[in-house]
Amino acid sequence: MHPMKTHLPLLALAVTCTLAACADDLDPRQWIGHDRTRPLPRVVEPGSASTQDQPGKAPADAIVLFDGTSIAPWVAMNGEPTRWIVKDGAMECVPGSGYIRTLQCFGDAQVHVEFATPAQAEGSSQGRGNSGFFLGMTRYEIQILDSYNNPTYADGSCASVYNQYPPLVNASRPPGQWQSYDLVWTAPRFTPDGALQSPARLTLLHNGVLVHHNAELIGNTGWVTRGPYHPHPEKLPLCIQDHGNPVRFRNIWVRELGRPGRPEYYLADATLDRYTGKYEVNKDWIVEITRRDGNLFFQWYGEDFLVFATSPNRFFAKTTDVQVEFKTEGNVPVAYFSIGEDGGMRAIKVK
Ligand code: MG
Repeated sequence: MHPMKTHLPLLALAVTCTLAACADDLDPRQWIGHDRTRPLPRVVEPGSASTQDQPGKAPADAIVLFDGTSIAPWVAMNGEPTRWIVKDGAMECVPGSGYIRTLQCFGDAQVHVEFATPAQAEGSSQGRGNSGFFLGMTRYEIQILDSYNNPTYADGSCASVYNQYPPLVNASRPPGQWQSYDLVWTAPRFTPDGALQSPARLTLLHNGVLVHHNAELIGNTGWVTRGPYHPHPEKLPLCIQDHGNPVRFRNIWVRELGRPGRPEYYLADATLDRYTGKYEVNKDWIVEITRRDGNLFFQWYGEDFLVFATSPNRFFAKTTDVQVEFKTEGNVPVAYFSIGEDGGMRAIKVK
């Protein structure tokens, strides 16, 4: 099944405060003690824990990113199908095939991911069982490495925030065994002019052991460079690294936190590039749509709009309720621009 179809039922939920209660609702000063009008927590059927033989079950409200069968929620970095394989209920890195990323974008989130480095431990230091789990596209890496009796530099150990924070302890299991990351991620925030408003924060449990406690990232992670922050959208894909080792993954799920808003997708570059060009509303009015990384951009009524994909052909802005939908009528590509409920200004692609 196409992952976007899987997630569509979440749309209605996601428009209002959803998977977590709104921050305002959580402020005790907003309520008197034992206030009977205070909303009860939403009921969530919890999942179950994994064993070495059997992956556990995700909580009922999680978005499942790998269930042991379909790799469809993951694509190559350019949005095309990945060459990673699914084998024995796990998805496995094929060395040389490149990083993979989720189609869906995530901001603040609780994430669960399980991995196993190759049972046959080959290489040493950074060369043994290396991969990485990234938040914010490829900006922020939590290292994955075979760190069982395999010394390396501290801030490159398994479960390190790469090149920034070593884990508080080394809770690694032997190679070949399933290990887990349970993390709580707060995405960094940027002001409209691109300044850092609040840094990224990470809490991480490695095999159930706390290894980062609300660690404040100093910026991007990288091999030879670290930081600073560069402004980016709040929600971006999750990524997994191809570092040349056949590391396996299973039981990956995510719960969006805070106010996630509409589901967002990072479409293939080729898909977005089909939408770019000039659209004629009338002979005096041309709207030009360009691509900025994984988003589209245009000016309308003299204002700039960066728009985000909420389906393969529908986009929305976050600053104003502006939407654009792309269609093909006959053989003619058209775009419908709308503001709120006032919609349907039709523009024909001319270039
Ligand atoms: Mg790595």
